[in-house]
Amino acid sequence: MKAPAKTRPHRLGIHRVVEPAGAMPQDAWRIDNTPVAAENEMLCEVDALNIDSASFRQLCETCDSDGLRIGERVMEIVGQRGKQHNPVTGSGGMFVGRVLEIGSALRGKADVAAGDRIASLVSLTLTPLHIDAVIGVDVATGRVRVRGKAILFESGLWARLPSDVHEGVALAVLDVAGAPAQVRRLCSPGQTVLVIGADGKSGLLSCAQAKARVGTSGRVIGLVPDAGTASAALLLRAGLVDELIVADARRALETSAALEAVAADLADVVINCVNVSGTELGSILCAKDGATIYFFSMATSFTAAALGAEGVARDVTMIIGNGYTKGHAEIALQTLRDHPALLAYFTERYGN
Ligand code: NAP
Repeated sequence: MKAPAKTRPHRLGIHRVVEPAGAMPQDAWRIDNTPVAAENEMLCEVDALNIDSASFRQLCETCDSDGLRIGERVMEIVGQRGKQHNPVTGSGGMFVGRVLEIGSALRGKADVAAGDRIASLVSLTLTPLHIDAVIGVDVATGRVRVRGKAILFESGLWARLPSDVHEGVALAVLDVAGAPAQVRRLCSPGQTVLVIGADGKSGLLSCAQAKARVGTSGRVIGLVPDAGTASAALLLRAGLVDELIVADARRALETSAALEAVAADLADVVINCVNVSGTELGSILCAKDGATIYFFSMATSFTAAALGAEGVARDVTMIIGNGYTKGHAEIALQTLRDHPALLAYFTERYGN
């Protein structure tokens, strides 16, 4: 009798799903994180995780912003699920590290070699991750330094780390690379663009791209919860916004009133870059009929957005913030290079 033909591991990583049966790695509860590369996988040594902001905020809230406890919780999640997939927020982040081994079926196909330093561009919510130890948690940036290994599937996206940008900066920026790339696509000359959560990582990059796209006939307005931060000051100093407004985006009426105080009309495009829940209605009230709202925030509720827009009879197009856009990594890094003040800010905050 012939032995059954060995099936090739699936390019999307389905062979790593443990439970439930039929799931994909991203929506699986648990995946196999054995740190050994199959023929079409890449094994990487992981130095640091950038936990996505909505997830990190939730971890901080439940662990009283105690780095040790956050590290323990990360170990616990990865131990249970085989991946850093926050069960409360459903979000992940990405990693930086070094390629250790390239499966035989991938060798020569991908432009990468063992030893190359890379950043993953697929979410940690589908990346098999094995952590030996958490070395440190930087509560200010959401960066978790670890000793561990991860697997990238054949379909997995990654980027070689740039030589001219600090690795910590690349880690922070590449996690949110989808935002500036999408903003560039969504905005056009003459428009009024509102960026909510303008002083965070994705918000700053989005403002820079929006400003370049709308031109002198358009207007970019940044909304922040506090005008006293260094990044809020940077928005004005570096000319990344035309106007800075202050509001708690969870308060819908306060948010739209803040916009109406500085703009004759509502926004053509609203970009939501916050890391808290409950900001859908504020975003909708700021958008004029026919406008586009881009919900990059991982704390966005489909139900709240869909029913909220219906409830206030606002005919808007709402887009889910796809983490991937063609060329997004290069666009995000180039945005920094094109704006020295932005690069200096990111380097000071994340480059250590
Ligand atoms: P970030 O750097 O932490 O920025 C979040 C910003 O939101 C901060 O400036 C914060 O201000 C502001 N904010 C918080 N509460 C607010 C409120 N009530 N009203 C107005 N602004 C408020 O986060 P990020 O890394 O740019 O990420 C932004 C969002 O994108 C997160 O939800 C993250 O999970 C998500 N994300 C999405 C993708 C995707 O593929 N779609 C990928 C990565 C991340 P303070 O700092 O002053 O609180």
